[in-house]
Amino acid sequence: AQMRAAHAERLQALGQLAGGIAHDFNNVLQAVAASSGLIERRAEDPAMVRRLARLAAEATARGAAVTQRLLSFARRGALRAAPVDVPALLEGLRDILAHTLGRSLSIRVEAPPGLPPLLADKAQLETVLVNLATNARDAMPEGGTLTFTAAAERASPGHPAGLAPGAYLRLQVQDSGSGMTPEVLARIAEPFFTTKGIGRGTGLGLAMARGFAEQSGGTLLVESEAGEGTCVTLWLPQAAASASPPPPAPPTALRGLT
Ligand code: ADP
Repeated sequence: AQMRAAHAERLQALGQLAGGIAHDFNNVLQAVAASSGLIERRAEDPAMVRRLARLAAEATARGAAVTQRLLSFARRGALRAAPVDVPALLEGLRDILAHTLGRSLSIRVEAPPGLPPLLADKAQLETVLVNLATNARDAMPEGGTLTFTAAAERASPGHPAGLAPGAYLRLQVQDSGSGMTPEVLARIAEPFFTTKGIGRGTGLGLAMARGFAEQSGGTLLVESEAGEGTCVTLWLPQAAASASPPPPAPPTALRGLT
């Protein structure tokens, strides 16, 4: 019976993973489609064509990382955690997102140089951040500001987000968009919960972000207020602090501003 329960759990995880992969792949295809559409329209500008081709190549590399995840799941592989230089990662993301998310967004990155590296699977972290940024864009159809912030944080016992004591990096993705009502905020942790309609949303972005944060030994918190905007905070362990395997994942806190 135990084996069967483990099998059922694995099948459920596989279903969620497959949905997540469809979601991420869709983001990749959107980026490639946007770049190739622009290449057609800007064919007379060789420098622009080269840049757009580069962006399309980067998007397909992200696509390859996504399929890699399926393969590593099949091998029951854990996340491939390694030290990640966060300011460099965010600068790179800003350049990609500036093209894929449209011109009406102003994208800010606040990450002090010299920040200690965090320990996580870099490709997955990028995928999660692209998903969060895409949600932010969807919440700001008329444009607005998307801000990525990174800072070091030492969690003491009794941390408000339930984080185990230790050294973390706090990554925040904040938007000035529509925000969420308390009713929506209460349900966002559910896989497949979406307000975007069939074919537009999968309802997996936040569930996957939470799973990633917990598997990496951190946690995730969503704060949102209707009409004000949303802030998603990810805490991930610092690389130096995790010479031993990451601590067991604490319960995830998903709650509103009170
Ligand atoms: P999806 O984006 O496919 O709907 P998610 O799990 O990423 O799936 O998000 C679930 C729901 O949470 C969204 O449909 C939306 O209603 C809400 N949401 C997520 N991020 C934001 C945000 N930044 N601003 C406003 N609402 C959001």
